[in-house]
Amino acid sequence: MNYYYIETFGCQMNVHESEKLAGILESRGLTAVSGASRADVIVFNTCCIRDTAEKKIEGNIGELKALKRSRPDLIIVISGCMTQQAGRAEALKKRFPFIDIILGTNNQYELGEKIDALLKAGKKIISIDNADKPAISEEVPVFRTSFPNAWINIMYGCNNFCTYCIVPYVRGRERSRDPERIISEIRSAVNEGYKEITLLGQNVDSYGSDLDSGMNFYKLLQKIAEIDGKFRVRFMTSHPKDLSEEVIKLISEHPNFCKNIHLPVQSGSNAVLKKMNRKYSRERYLELIGYIRKYMPEAGITTDIMVGFPGETDADFADTMDLVEKVRFQNAFTFVYSPRNGTPAAAMEQIPADIKKSRITRLVALQNSISDEISLDYLGKTYEILIEDEEGGICAGRTDSGRLVRFPGDKEDIGKFVNVKITKNKASSLYGEKV
Ligand code: SF4
Repeated sequence: MNYYYIETFGCQMNVHESEKLAGILESRGLTAVSGASRADVIVFNTCCIRDTAEKKIEGNIGELKALKRSRPDLIIVISGCMTQQAGRAEALKKRFPFIDIILGTNNQYELGEKIDALLKAGKKIISIDNADKPAISEEVPVFRTSFPNAWINIMYGCNNFCTYCIVPYVRGRERSRDPERIISEIRSAVNEGYKEITLLGQNVDSYGSDLDSGMNFYKLLQKIAEIDGKFRVRFMTSHPKDLSEEVIKLISEHPNFCKNIHLPVQSGSNAVLKKMNRKYSRERYLELIGYIRKYMPEAGITTDIMVGFPGETDADFADTMDLVEKVRFQNAFTFVYSPRNGTPAAAMEQIPADIKKSRITRLVALQNSISDEISLDYLGKTYEILIEDEEGGICAGRTDSGRLVRFPGDKEDIGKFVNVKITKNKASSLYGEKV
């Protein structure tokens, strides 16, 4: 065995978990390749947030059949959220008998030992830990792939049970990592040259609520603020139910914390928020936005918005449009609600597709016009950019407020902070020149 290939589906949590799967394989002497055909071990790290995502992954798994037939020694591993759903691992095994190892979200750390067991006994393996609060595995090596950004988990799982979301069913209840381990991991990443630290959790604002030490997200950020060095800190995802004024104020006071808050609102209607079980009101959401504007007038505020949730009326949708106009998000990830099997909302009465389509079209048009207006504010000004990528002599990086900017530059500049004057706004992208 010399080469491995990992394909990651879904969110940043999965991207980082794939870095741990890669760490396990690298520590056993394997090297990454960019395509499945050359690999000796293929890992699919899967997502089940939408039915469409699962269908796509199933299609991709099906395509591995011919490869496995031509190379019976190939090891095929399916892992992640899709496998963790009740009965799903057995169904996958039945439908795709050529899969060698199936690992749940809480069993990924077992990858190495399961490969050994497979090689020894030659038997297919399913390993799924269904505990509500599985132990956190701290000793897994990480092979980072997102320089200059280092993903760092601060917690796992979710307690919220939003009625449209499958995550609490496949990721268990909230478990916070020990703060000293988090700080030590951040220090190591900074010492290794990483310039951006992104703290990961399904609901970072409730960090520490399961610890006995009185630790919370505010105190963790205070500790992170004490770490020396020039680096940026971002985090995802915040929940309006738990974000506090004191956290917002702390972010505003420390230069390393990016002035970029992603705060998913999902809907501007109290009736819909209630049906979604989001546990905050539009009034509370607008109050939080008020705090962000008060302490960080230049902050980039982004959000997620879902339209067409079961029971959403014209008046509910009008509330969402009104909230979007009031907040003026820098950017919004907009979705049409689609039922996710296994969640309460999937059993609610659905609204017609043409209504959903008309609403999303209007929402996207409104948000695009706001994003374009906000972009105009950037023109002619100079911002510090952390260069994240380069292609064909064009670098891409972000402002502290989270806006992507493109400008001429070299690959060697990835990971450097540079000052860039914004000269052009085209199709919601900012372009500039180094100064
Ligand atoms: S907070 Fe809600 S949307 Fe986010 S992961 Fe938990 S249940 Fe899902």
